[in-house]
Amino acid sequence: KKVADRYLKREVLGEGTYGVVYKAIDTKTGQTVAIKKIRLGKQKEGVNFTALREIKLLKELKDPNIIELIDAFPHKGNLHLVFEFMETDLETVIRNTNIFLSPADIKSYMQMTLKGLAFCHKKWVLHRDMKPNNLLIGPHGQLKLADFGLARIFGSPDRKFTHQVFARWYRAPELLFGAKQYGAGVDVWAAGCIFAELLNRRPFLQGTSDIDQLGKIFAALGTATASQWPDLAYLPDYVEYQYVAAPPLRSLFPTASDDALDLLSKMLTYDPKARITAQQALEHRYFSSAPLPTEPDKLPRPA
Ligand code: ADP
Repeated sequence: KKVADRYLKREVLGEGTYGVVYKAIDTKTGQTVAIKKIRLGKQKEGVNFTALREIKLLKELKDPNIIELIDAFPHKGNLHLVFEFMETDLETVIRNTNIFLSPADIKSYMQMTLKGLAFCHKKWVLHRDMKPNNLLIGPHGQLKLADFGLARIFGSPDRKFTHQVFARWYRAPELLFGAKQYGAGVDVWAAGCIFAELLNRRPFLQGTSDIDQLGKIFAALGTATASQWPDLAYLPDYVEYQYVAAPPLRSLFPTASDDALDLLSKMLTYDPKARITAQQALEHRYFSSAPLPTEPDKLPRPA
């Protein structure tokens, strides 16, 4: 049975933030695709309309490091988003203890992540929900960012779904302090947390609540102060934390190079206005100094 007269449904791949994701064959191209079925509340017919219009814009967002949105259509009260199918994701790679990641491999993953981010930020689209399982990996080792722009259209999934708790570990301090206006810096912070996770093979800041998340951030990087971050005290949920001095970053990342640590500290800068941008990060000497990033098709793959 075909969906929308075009897609042959295969197995369910998993339950995501917005609904079920299943594998399908695009009979028009023969390509394997992943279809995300998004439940749309019946109460808000208008959402359909706005969502579809915004989704149209996402279809134009084409880059080698962004998952292509191939098609989007409403079907039986659900919105179906058709994406190119990807074999695995960065979370699976990081967690697979049989895979050794060299400094050049880590550099390659970071470069692909930042290229995807820089492209979208240039088009004024934020991700807002960056985490290793949103960084999908294709058959030739290419890393592509998934779910770009969806958080803005369908609302930040935040507290609504229990499996979303991991997203907290990648949340920028301005979001944790309730900032209503924020920018591309939130994605750069998340990418910094992913960088840290690639270096240590373990999530960097594993908060158990939003308050605890800030506590974990401050314990690792030192309490944010007004001199580093002038707007801090004006954020809606600002509370004063007991002062903790930052341990040397080097002590938390014993295997990282000096260049890697310098870039990491710039991505994890508290003041979003002072934080490095994705484009500036790509121009950091970390990416031009030896070892050069591994070619995607030479990256280690799960057996
Ligand atoms: P979450 O919202 O938790 O990030 P998703 O909705 O992105 O989850 O995805 C749910 C499941 O579908 C996951 O197991 C994920 O690996 C899989 N999946 C999502 N997109 C793709 C894709 N483009 N190709 C292959 N699998 C995918």
